[in-house]
Amino acid sequence: MIPFNKASISELEKVYLLDALQNSKLSGDGKYTMRVYEQLRKRLGLENVLLTTSGTTALEMASLLIDLQPGDEVIVPSFTFSSTVNAFLLRGAKPVFCDIRPDTFNIDEKLIDGLISPRTRAIYCVDYAGVSCDMDIINEIANKHGLFVIEDAAQSVGSTYKGKNAGTLAEFGCYSFHETKNYVMGEGGAIVLNEAKYLERAEIIREKGTNRRQVLKGWTDKYTWHDIGSSFLPSDLLAAILSAQLERWDEIMQKRLAVWNTYHEALKPLEKAGKLRRAIIPDYAQHNGHMYNIVLPDDYVRTRLVNELKKLDVMAYICYVPLHSAPMGLKLGCRPEDCPVTEEYGGRVLRLPLYADMLPEQAEKVVQMIGAIL
Ligand SMILES: *Cc1c(COP(=O)(O)O)cnc(C)c1O
Repeated sequence: MIPFNKASISELEKVYLLDALQNSKLSGDGKYTMRVYEQLRKRLGLENVLLTTSGTTALEMASLLIDLQPGDEVIVPSFTFSSTVNAFLLRGAKPVFCDIRPDTFNIDEKLIDGLISPRTRAIYCVDYAGVSCDMDIINEIANKHGLFVIEDAAQSVGSTYKGKNAGTLAEFGCYSFHETKNYVMGEGGAIVLNEAKYLERAEIIREKGTNRRQVLKGWTDKYTWHDIGSSFLPSDLLAAILSAQLERWDEIMQKRLAVWNTYHEALKPLEKAGKLRRAIIPDYAQHNGHMYNIVLPDDYVRTRLVNELKKLDVMAYICYVPLHSAPMGLKLGCRPEDCPVTEEYGGRVLRLPLYADMLPEQAEKVVQMIGAIL
């Protein structure tokens, strides 16, 4: 059986987890959390980054940090996970769904300008499949209109845009270390604060609105309530797992890229034969092998392919049901025709199994099956 995803857990994760259990703190900000910060600093040059309980709560923290108010509008792609939108819906802000580019399925930067109103406060963009959005253009639009940009980099840890690391390309970057992502801690994430001025408030918001972290750092001895906040700080036990994963950064990255490249090569004849479209990576982006997508002629062919692959014990996955036409999107008053490109590709994209410990030979086998079925 080839599952859709499987986390790569080695002896190192077990050693660190056991050590954390015996010798570190069970709550957050212990030895392994600090080690993770050091690893992220060395690897990605991140100076101000905080681990969170999930990618979702990293996005929620960003929404708190920019002080979104009820009635504010946020421009966001519809082809994403519910968390990207829930993060600001929880603050009373309203989504203005932007259509996607047909090549990367990322927000179509050319359409953003036309969606800006006097109430627009922010753009939440999503690096789908580990491929960065065209951030220079998005930042330029945001600067012109005084908008915040939040980069949902849940899938793009380790990817780059014009040589710069995903997650560092806007005011805030949000990573996920959920078990389905490239580097895992079970449930977890991080918020990257690319402007140092946000760090102090972020630490308070993450600690239930208290200055606990400042007390721990010895900056003050008065432990008290300063702001709104929640419990966004993950256990050091989970940080221990992540620390092992980050130590295995190159191994995990290379293995994923090997599977990705095998798919890309093996699928070439099927693309030539007009059976499907392969993944498209723009010149400005270097991806992290997070996922491999194919585009099928229509929803009927896709559904048939998923079912036939399942009979052969291969788990392919229909990515996202576009949010604007999902039950919640319709409740918010969106209409399917609001985002025609999203609507079309939402019915045609299929995500193939891909995980670090998958063998390139298995990817070849999956492609043979797809060829036979199509
Ligand atoms: C996974 C994911 C999230 C949520 O991350 P969690 O850690 O699962 O909360 C948010 N946005 C995108 C695009 C994701 O892929």
